[in-house]
Amino acid sequence: MGTNSRIEWTEATWNPVAGCSIVSPGCTNCYAMRMARRLEAMGQDKYSGLTRTSGGRPKWNGLIRLDESSLRIPLGWKVGRMIFVNSMSDLFHEDVPLSFIQQVFAVMRDCPHHTFQVLTKRSEQLVEVAPYLDWTPNIWMGVSVESEDYKFRIENLRKTPAKVKFLSLEPLLGDLGALNLKGIDWAIAGGESGPAARDMQPEWVRSIRDQCISSGVAFHFKQWGGVNKKKSGRTLDGRTWDELPVSVVA
Ligand code: SF4
Repeated sequence: MGTNSRIEWTEATWNPVAGCSIVSPGCTNCYAMRMARRLEAMGQDKYSGLTRTSGGRPKWNGLIRLDESSLRIPLGWKVGRMIFVNSMSDLFHEDVPLSFIQQVFAVMRDCPHHTFQVLTKRSEQLVEVAPYLDWTPNIWMGVSVESEDYKFRIENLRKTPAKVKFLSLEPLLGDLGALNLKGIDWAIAGGESGPAARDMQPEWVRSIRDQCISSGVAFHFKQWGGVNKKKSGRTLDGRTWDELPVSVVA
Protein backbone atom coordinates (compact mmCIF):
# COMPACT_ATOMS: atom_id res chain seq x y z
CA MET A 1 0.00 0.00 0.00
CA GLY A 2 2.70 2.40 -0.88
CA THR A 3 4.15 2.47 2.57
CA ASN A 4 7.81 3.07 3.24
CA SER A 5 9.39 -0.19 4.40
CA ARG A 6 11.24 1.68 7.15
CA ILE A 7 7.92 2.14 8.86
CA GLU A 8 8.19 2.01 12.61
CA TRP A 9 5.37 -0.42 13.26
CA THR A 10 6.43 -3.41 11.21
CA GLU A 11 9.55 -5.56 10.80
CA ALA A 12 9.50 -6.91 7.25
CA THR A 13 7.67 -6.46 3.98
CA TRP A 14 6.37 -9.13 1.63
CA ASN A 15 5.21 -8.24 -1.85
CA PRO A 16 3.31 -10.97 -3.70
CA VAL A 17 1.86 -8.25 -5.98
CA ALA A 18 3.65 -5.35 -7.70
CA GLY A 19 1.99 -2.37 -9.35
CA CYS A 20 -1.14 -0.42 -8.56
CA SER A 21 -3.30 2.49 -9.70
CA ILE A 22 -4.35 5.65 -7.96
CA VAL A 23 -7.67 5.37 -6.15
CA SER A 24 -8.00 8.47 -3.93
CA PRO A 25 -6.12 11.65 -2.89
CA GLY A 26 -3.98 9.74 -0.39
CA CYS A 27 -2.32 8.03 -3.38
CA THR A 28 -1.09 11.24 -5.05
CA ASN A 29 2.45 11.02 -3.70
CA CYS A 30 2.48 7.22 -3.36
CA TYR A 31 5.90 6.14 -2.20
CA ALA A 32 5.64 2.80 -4.03
CA MET A 33 5.39 4.47 -7.46
CA ARG A 34 8.74 6.15 -6.94
CA MET A 35 10.24 3.04 -5.42
CA ALA A 36 9.04 0.87 -8.33
CA ARG A 37 10.81 3.16 -10.78
CA ARG A 38 14.00 2.96 -8.72
CA LEU A 39 13.85 -0.82 -8.48
CA GLU A 40 13.28 -1.03 -12.23
CA ALA A 41 16.38 1.12 -12.78
CA MET A 42 18.28 -1.29 -10.54
CA GLY A 43 17.32 -4.11 -12.91
CA GLN A 44 14.54 -5.76 -10.89
CA ASP A 45 12.25 -7.36 -13.50
CA LYS A 46 9.39 -7.60 -11.04
CA TYR A 47 9.03 -3.81 -11.15
CA SER A 48 9.75 -3.17 -14.82
CA GLY A 49 7.10 -1.47 -16.95
CA LEU A 50 4.75 -0.63 -14.05
CA THR A 51 5.08 3.15 -14.25
CA ARG A 52 4.81 5.97 -16.77
CA THR A 53 6.14 9.50 -16.43
CA SER A 54 3.77 12.39 -15.83
CA GLY A 55 4.88 15.89 -14.87
CA GLY A 56 8.42 14.56 -14.64
CA ARG A 57 7.45 12.06 -11.96
CA PRO A 58 6.77 8.33 -12.06
CA LYS A 59 3.09 7.33 -11.87
CA TRP A 60 1.55 3.88 -11.93
CA ASN A 61 0.38 2.87 -15.40
CA GLY A 62 -2.19 0.45 -13.98
CA LEU A 63 -0.32 -2.76 -14.74
CA ILE A 64 -0.45 -5.34 -11.95
CA ARG A 65 2.10 -8.13 -11.66
CA LEU A 66 1.34 -11.22 -9.60
CA ASP A 67 4.58 -12.66 -8.26
CA GLU A 68 3.98 -16.36 -7.70
CA SER A 69 7.67 -16.86 -6.92
CA SER A 70 7.45 -14.73 -3.78
CA LEU A 71 4.44 -16.50 -2.33
CA ARG A 72 6.42 -18.88 -0.16
CA ILE A 73 8.92 -16.34 1.22
CA PRO A 74 7.38 -16.03 4.73
CA LEU A 75 7.50 -19.82 5.12
CA GLY A 76 11.29 -19.54 4.99
CA TRP A 77 11.46 -16.99 7.83
CA LYS A 78 11.76 -19.21 10.86
CA VAL A 79 11.69 -16.52 13.54
CA GLY A 80 8.28 -14.93 13.97
CA ARG A 81 8.04 -11.33 12.81
CA MET A 82 5.57 -8.60 11.99
CA ILE A 83 5.16 -8.57 8.22
CA PHE A 84 3.60 -5.81 6.17
CA VAL A 85 1.88 -7.36 3.16
CA ASN A 86 2.11 -5.62 -0.22
CA SER A 87 3.92 -2.38 0.50
CA MET A 88 4.27 -2.08 -3.31
CA SER A 89 0.64 -2.57 -4.27
CA ASP A 90 -2.87 -3.10 -2.90
CA LEU A 91 -3.79 -6.76 -2.40
CA PHE A 92 -7.45 -5.91 -3.04
CA HIS A 93 -6.83 -4.15 -6.35
CA GLU A 94 -9.58 -4.93 -8.87
CA ASP A 95 -7.11 -6.80 -11.08
CA VAL A 96 -5.88 -9.18 -8.40
CA PRO A 97 -7.96 -12.35 -8.82
CA LEU A 98 -9.68 -13.88 -5.81
CA SER A 99 -7.74 -17.12 -6.35
CA PHE A 100 -4.47 -15.22 -5.86
CA ILE A 101 -5.70 -13.41 -2.74
CA GLN A 102 -6.71 -16.83 -1.42
CA GLN A 103 -3.20 -18.12 -2.01
CA VAL A 104 -1.76 -15.18 -0.05
CA PHE A 105 -4.19 -15.88 2.80
CA ALA A 106 -3.26 -19.58 2.75
CA VAL A 107 0.41 -18.69 3.24
CA MET A 108 -0.52 -16.41 6.15
CA ARG A 109 -2.56 -19.26 7.65
CA ASP A 110 0.40 -21.60 7.27
CA CYS A 111 2.69 -19.18 9.12
CA PRO A 112 1.09 -18.86 12.56
CA HIS A 113 4.44 -17.72 13.99
CA HIS A 114 4.23 -14.49 11.98
CA THR A 115 1.81 -11.59 12.26
CA PHE A 116 0.66 -10.16 8.93
CA GLN A 117 -0.54 -6.61 8.45
CA VAL A 118 -2.68 -6.18 5.35
CA LEU A 119 -3.70 -2.64 4.43
CA THR A 120 -6.04 -1.55 1.66
CA LYS A 121 -7.76 1.49 0.22
CA ARG A 122 -10.14 -0.78 -1.70
CA SER A 123 -12.52 -1.55 1.09
CA GLU A 124 -15.46 -2.31 -1.22
CA GLN A 125 -13.46 -5.09 -2.85
CA LEU A 126 -12.34 -6.26 0.60
CA VAL A 127 -15.94 -6.66 1.77
CA GLU A 128 -16.86 -8.50 -1.41
CA VAL A 129 -14.14 -11.14 -1.12
CA ALA A 130 -13.89 -11.37 2.70
CA PRO A 131 -16.35 -14.31 2.97
CA TYR A 132 -14.13 -16.40 0.70
CA LEU A 133 -10.93 -15.93 2.71
CA ASP A 134 -9.48 -17.88 5.62
CA TRP A 135 -9.17 -15.32 8.44
CA THR A 136 -6.67 -16.72 10.93
CA PRO A 137 -5.94 -14.67 14.08
CA ASN A 138 -2.45 -13.67 12.88
CA ILE A 139 -3.94 -11.58 10.06
CA TRP A 140 -4.44 -7.94 10.96
CA MET A 141 -6.63 -6.12 8.47
CA GLY A 142 -6.48 -2.36 8.01
CA VAL A 143 -7.90 0.37 5.83
CA SER A 144 -6.34 3.71 4.94
CA VAL A 145 -8.40 6.82 5.56
CA GLU A 146 -6.88 10.13 4.56
CA SER A 147 -9.86 12.44 4.85
CA GLU A 148 -13.49 12.55 5.91
CA ASP A 149 -14.73 11.47 2.47
CA TYR A 150 -13.17 8.03 2.95
CA LYS A 151 -14.50 7.15 6.39
CA PHE A 152 -16.82 4.64 4.69
CA ARG A 153 -13.77 2.38 4.51
CA ILE A 154 -13.96 1.98 8.31
CA GLU A 155 -17.55 0.77 7.97
CA ASN A 156 -16.41 -1.76 5.39
CA LEU A 157 -13.53 -2.94 7.56
CA ARG A 158 -15.97 -3.57 10.40
CA LYS A 159 -17.89 -5.98 8.17
CA THR A 160 -14.90 -8.33 7.87
CA PRO A 161 -14.16 -11.14 10.33
CA ALA A 162 -10.54 -10.01 10.85
CA LYS A 163 -9.57 -10.58 14.48
CA VAL A 164 -7.46 -7.42 14.64
CA LYS A 165 -8.69 -4.38 12.73
CA PHE A 166 -6.63 -1.25 12.29
CA LEU A 167 -6.72 2.15 10.66
CA SER A 168 -3.91 3.87 8.81
CA LEU A 169 -4.81 7.55 8.99
CA GLU A 170 -2.00 8.77 6.77
CA PRO A 171 -1.15 10.78 4.92
CA LEU A 172 -3.67 12.67 7.00
CA LEU A 173 -5.08 15.32 4.67
CA GLY A 174 -7.94 16.74 6.70
CA ASP A 175 -9.91 16.67 9.92
CA LEU A 176 -11.67 13.31 10.17
CA GLY A 177 -14.25 14.62 12.62
CA ALA A 178 -16.08 12.12 14.81
CA LEU A 179 -14.92 8.55 14.29
CA ASN A 180 -16.86 5.39 15.00
CA LEU A 181 -14.12 3.23 16.50
CA LYS A 182 -16.31 0.30 17.53
CA GLY A 183 -14.47 -2.95 16.82
CA ILE A 184 -11.28 -1.12 15.88
CA ASP A 185 -8.13 -2.19 17.75
CA TRP A 186 -5.47 0.21 16.55
CA ALA A 187 -5.07 3.55 14.77
CA ILE A 188 -1.90 4.90 13.19
CA ALA A 189 -1.80 8.57 12.24
CA GLY A 190 0.84 10.48 10.35
CA GLY A 191 1.61 13.30 7.98
CA GLU A 192 2.91 13.04 4.47
CA SER A 193 6.66 13.28 3.89
CA GLY A 194 8.76 13.99 0.83
CA PRO A 195 9.29 16.91 -1.54
CA ALA A 196 5.60 17.54 -2.31
CA ALA A 197 4.30 16.77 1.19
CA ARG A 198 0.90 18.24 2.06
CA ASP A 199 0.34 19.91 5.42
CA MET A 200 -1.17 18.23 8.44
CA GLN A 201 -2.67 20.27 11.29
CA PRO A 202 -1.95 19.26 14.92
CA GLU A 203 -5.66 19.53 15.78
CA TRP A 204 -6.49 16.76 13.32
CA VAL A 205 -4.07 14.40 15.08
CA ARG A 206 -5.15 15.43 18.58
CA SER A 207 -8.75 14.74 17.71
CA ILE A 208 -7.87 11.20 16.59
CA ARG A 209 -5.70 10.59 19.65
CA ASP A 210 -8.35 11.80 22.05
CA GLN A 211 -11.02 9.65 20.42
CA CYS A 212 -8.71 6.63 20.59
CA ILE A 213 -8.09 7.24 24.28
CA SER A 214 -11.77 7.58 25.10
CA SER A 215 -12.64 4.48 23.06
CA GLY A 216 -9.78 2.33 24.39
CA VAL A 217 -8.14 2.03 20.96
CA ALA A 218 -4.33 1.76 20.73
CA PHE A 219 -2.85 4.87 19.12
CA HIS A 220 0.42 5.19 17.22
CA PHE A 221 1.67 8.52 15.99
CA LYS A 222 4.10 7.87 13.16
CA GLN A 223 5.39 11.29 12.15
CA TRP A 224 4.60 14.92 11.41
CA GLY A 225 6.13 14.44 7.98
CA GLY A 226 6.89 17.37 5.72
CA VAL A 227 9.93 17.98 3.57
CA ASN A 228 12.30 17.04 6.39
CA LYS A 229 10.56 14.39 8.43
CA LYS A 230 13.56 13.83 10.70
CA LYS A 231 13.46 17.46 11.75
CA SER A 232 9.72 17.57 12.29
CA GLY A 233 9.92 14.40 14.39
CA ARG A 234 7.14 12.35 15.89
CA THR A 235 6.33 13.74 19.30
CA LEU A 236 2.85 14.98 20.02
CA ASP A 237 2.23 17.12 23.08
CA GLY A 238 5.64 16.33 24.52
CA ARG A 239 5.77 12.57 24.02
CA THR A 240 5.74 9.78 21.47
CA TRP A 241 2.72 7.52 20.97
CA ASP A 242 3.69 3.96 20.15
CA GLU A 243 0.82 1.84 21.35
CA LEU A 244 0.08 -1.54 19.84
CA PRO A 245 -3.12 -3.56 19.87
CA VAL A 246 -3.77 -5.32 23.19
CA SER A 247 -3.36 -8.75 21.57
CA VAL A 248 0.35 -7.98 21.03
CA VAL A 249 0.99 -6.42 24.39
CA ALA A 250 -0.54 -9.32 26.31
S1 SF4 B 1 -3.49 2.15 -3.16
FE1 SF4 B 1 -1.55 2.27 -2.07
S2 SF4 B 1 -0.02 1.40 -3.49
FE2 SF4 B 1 -1.86 1.86 -4.66
S3 SF4 B 1 -1.49 3.91 -5.46
FE3 SF4 B 1 -2.62 4.17 -3.58
S4 SF4 B 1 -1.05 4.45 -1.99
FE4 SF4 B 1 -0.03 3.60 -3.80
